[in-house]
Amino acid sequence: MELSDIAKRFRVDKQDAFRLSDHKSDETFGLDKDRGKAMFEDALEKLHALQEAFYADDRFSMLIVLQAMDAAGKDGVIEHVIGAFNPQGCEVHPFKAPNEEERAHDFLWRFARRLPEHGRIGVFNRSYYEDVLVVRVHPEFLGKQAQSNDIWTQRYDSISSFERHLVGNGTSVLKFFLNLSRGEQRDRFLDRIDTPEKNWKFSMGDVRERALWPKYMDAYQDAIRATATSDAPWFVVPADRKWFGRLVVAAVLVDALERLKPAFPKVGADALKELQAARKALAAEK
Ligand code: ATP
Ligand code: MG
Repeated sequence: MELSDIAKRFRVDKQDAFRLSDHKSDETFGLDKDRGKAMFEDALEKLHALQEAFYADDRFSMLIVLQAMDAAGKDGVIEHVIGAFNPQGCEVHPFKAPNEEERAHDFLWRFARRLPEHGRIGVFNRSYYEDVLVVRVHPEFLGKQAQSNDIWTQRYDSISSFERHLVGNGTSVLKFFLNLSRGEQRDRFLDRIDTPEKNWKFSMGDVRERALWPKYMDAYQDAIRATATSDAPWFVVPADRKWFGRLVVAAVLVDALERLKPAFPKVGADALKELQAARKALAAEK
């Protein structure tokens, strides 16, 4: 199996047909862990080189959206995959519950302010999708933002239009759902409780949200179904095996960056002459 095959397998880019139950959270396609790790190292090298050209090219932006239940491995993806990029060309924005100022605006406002510039890659660690996920599971969070009876359809439409606008203006939009099983989440929570160095990662709120698992899965399925397009695809990443999930995300990013064919800017004839003159002067220095 090649990186490009992996990137394709988990892509969801058509509306309506998507069913979460068709996607296994423990898929590895029989790839053994050692081979997977070797492919991962190779992908990280490619990511590093591609991002340098992407930055120098300065024509496109890339928005990476990470969504998942707690303990699915968003932080690990950021550390181990996004970590391949030069930090100068990449920004990571975590989004928690909105503050008072943010709640006084439309739900996309706080995200629109943090979109990546040309040449840069922006990572949303949670995103505007929370407004159709956690908020859908807890409609009481809507407060004064509830403007319509058909709020979820309206929000899916807003999101789709927003993403279409971004894509039309040179931003690649890649959305990842790290698909963790409920059983694996339980094991990871237990590990966080049993390992003192991981205690800080655990909160009672996480257990309360876990109890609402089926509601979250319905919300994820509906959101993915309503917003998966060929321009702004979702990738449903099997997340029970951390090494495999990270490999999938890396493979998708390599594929997406390669497709853009980022190129280092070409220097014109005059500038080339200047370079040669500078070269001569430098070489002549004692
Ligand atoms: P980790 O738990 O690994 O630190 P995290 O992304 O879960 O990472 P938290 O500090 O636990 O970070 O919390 C973010 C919380 O904010 C999530 O529970 C998320 O659902 C919630 N949140 C995000 N957007 C909204 C929103 N619009 N309304 C209400 N809650 C939101
Ligand atoms: Mg959390």
